[in-house]
Amino acid sequence: MLFDIVTIFPEFFASPLGEGVLHRAIGGGLVKVRPVDLREYTTDRHRTTDDRPYGGGEGMVMKPEPIAGALTALQQEVPPGRVILLSPRGRLFRQEVARELAAEPRLILVCGRYEGVDERIREHWVDLELSVGDYVLSGGEVAALAVVDAVSRLLPGVLGCAASSARDSFSDGLLEHPQYTRPSVFGPWPVPEVLLSGDHARIARWRREQSLRLTLERRPELLAGAPLTGSDVAYLRGLGWEAE
Ligand code: SAH
Repeated sequence: MLFDIVTIFPEFFASPLGEGVLHRAIGGGLVKVRPVDLREYTTDRHRTTDDRPYGGGEGMVMKPEPIAGALTALQQEVPPGRVILLSPRGRLFRQEVARELAAEPRLILVCGRYEGVDERIREHWVDLELSVGDYVLSGGEVAALAVVDAVSRLLPGVLGCAASSARDSFSDGLLEHPQYTRPSVFGPWPVPEVLLSGDHARIARWRREQSLRLTLERRPELLAGAPLTGSDVAYLRGLGWEAE
């Protein structure tokens, strides 16, 4: 899968792409990430990418021409990419969106800076606007990295253990159960006894119940969309859950 990232800070990505899972995925040829320097698509001596907002007000707005120039050049390559603008007003980037995007051969991520991007880019060039959460970042680069990371780890072969992204939080609509490793007693705190029992059925049931309990406590709205068995529902009811 190919990710093009249109940015005024192409160097921003060197270190995060050089570590861990993403680094291995890139090294193994499963993922390719190309930061595209927006300044390459400016035409003036100062390589200007922003200008003052029409109508007045604080800050600067990213000019449309360099972004349109970069996108025109990128879209001449095959396969064409789905153009995504990172923006706090976008569709919320959730695990289901990551799954949807993992089916694409190529994404072109456009990073805003300053007060954002001239609206005509969004209207005429962008296929999808994505927000990584209800807070404001100083640029789209951090958000683009979140998209590259979350999408890449869903691609076949990227995670060492093929099944491990299937067990993550959200993959079954619930938060993940707690995890423990050695030592079995850390200070005054022992690992829950069931995990040392070797009884796989009991362990599976304990983990499921922990997932259900945590999701009910922290993100009860997720339960409505999660596939629940009869015994899940019984367990949740025992904790005081009332499904609509
Ligand atoms: N004035 C804008 C914020 C601009 S922040 C507003 O109030 O909506 C500058 C850039 O950072 C944005 O253009 C966008 O690309 C990026 N950005 C900021 N917060 C983001 C978020 N929550 N999700 C995705 N991108 C974000």
